[in-house]
Amino acid sequence: TDTLHIIGGGMAGSEAAWQAANAGIPVVLHEMRPEVGTFAHQTGNLAEMVCSNSFRSDDSEQNAVGLLHWEMREANGLIMATADKHRLPAGGALAVDRDHFAQAVTETLLAHPNITVEYGEITALPTDGTWIVATGPLTSGTLAQSIAESTGADALAFFDAIAPIVYADSVDMNVAWMQSRYDKGETEEERTAYLNCPMTKDEYEAFIDALLAADKTEFREGETAGYFDGCLPIEVMAERGRETLRFGPMKPVGLTNTHQPDIKAYAVVQLRRDNKLATLYNIVGFQTKMKYGAQTDVFKMIPGLQDASFARLGGIHRNSFINSPTLLDGQMRLRTAPHIRFAGQITGVEGYVESAAMGLLAGRLAAAELKGESLETPPDTTATGALITHISGGADAKTFQPMNVNFGLFPPVDGLKAGRRGRKDRYKAYTDRAKSDWQGWLQS
Ligand code: FAD
Repeated sequence: TDTLHIIGGGMAGSEAAWQAANAGIPVVLHEMRPEVGTFAHQTGNLAEMVCSNSFRSDDSEQNAVGLLHWEMREANGLIMATADKHRLPAGGALAVDRDHFAQAVTETLLAHPNITVEYGEITALPTDGTWIVATGPLTSGTLAQSIAESTGADALAFFDAIAPIVYADSVDMNVAWMQSRYDKGETEEERTAYLNCPMTKDEYEAFIDALLAADKTEFREGETAGYFDGCLPIEVMAERGRETLRFGPMKPVGLTNTHQPDIKAYAVVQLRRDNKLATLYNIVGFQTKMKYGAQTDVFKMIPGLQDASFARLGGIHRNSFINSPTLLDGQMRLRTAPHIRFAGQITGVEGYVESAAMGLLAGRLAAAELKGESLETPPDTTATGALITHISGGADAKTFQPMNVNFGLFPPVDGLKAGRRGRKDRYKAYTDRAKSDWQGWLQS
């Protein structure tokens, strides 16, 4: 059997190696640490957690991350099994002892008869063989350059600039209205691409005060290099002058409030549709380094968003990721070089759990291919399937930014009305459907 090569022994690469090796495929896992380090990793262990020691919620009935845990456990996932073994008490969250966790993953993979770990940096995309690139948010510079050369310079980002995303059904449409600026847009879909939230002068002034006063995370040294040209954090714009936002992303021109057509808004916050299903909207231009608690406080001051629930809060980080919607096919392969798959955070998912899940899938898809079998990707009703569907085509390629798993990525469940009251039932219906469909996929 042909060998599978995996670059990067993080969350995704470790899980991919485990899955493929268990399917009987010889695997070579290439990891640059400890020879070459990153600014965030501290050890030479595989699957090192670079920051928090939490895999987030373990609730597989009401939470999409918890559902991913469940799906990976059902698929004999190494990351989940090892996390369960080294679990620390943390309420509903799955927190672990990070050193024991990473050591155990390393020892398990080193001991696997089908796996060889080769230490050293891979500096270019390979031209032949079967490969998975899982080099993560801190992909080394030389390899990143090679990826950019093969995929096109615009197709690899070095920073994410994440604007917060709200669930459409939590926006108060008695205050907000749907309209594209200057009523632009040919199709119905384009005309309904934006929600607008109006502000009076007093509301705007109070909002600017809150932005300036909010708690922010500092950039690390070197983190902003080359960054500020494109996308300023909203609070930095506000610092440059109280009117900057009103003449920038919050400009009120070309819009008429359908609830109050005679009153000209002093400023308007726009939300742009973020997925095909129209369940998620991002706040346009609101990338931010505000701390999470501060973000919810400040953004709920926006009229129409007073009860908003957030699928993802904003952020700006060093993060290498490719434009998956344009570059990857449904099997996670590079369209222009199908002997190479991508997995993990570099595909534009965000977080340890999501990255491990994409590794699990890539490992299984590559193993099936090497065995001459065909394996479909899981349906978008499962958490793993919803994520892969989003990054490989559900998301808008032009504004593609990294994504956490959330129920907004799932196709709606029939017969259950959206809305606050039904949320518990709705989430349970999503997770019930996902579990049964995941079992079906595993058996296929
Ligand atoms: P990684 O886990 O980073 O693994 C990639 C591996 O590839 C690394 O081991 C690296 O050494 C190796 N590598 C890179 N380039 C090469 C090369 N050229 N040749 C060989 N090997 C290479 N997620 C959370 O869920 N919670 C958090 O609190 C959190 N905090 C974060 C803080 C920081 C500063 C950063 C940068 C990220 C954070 N993340 C967090 C995101 C998290 O790191 C990723 O989601 C997850 O680790 C991604 O898994 P991965 O396998 O794709 O990449």
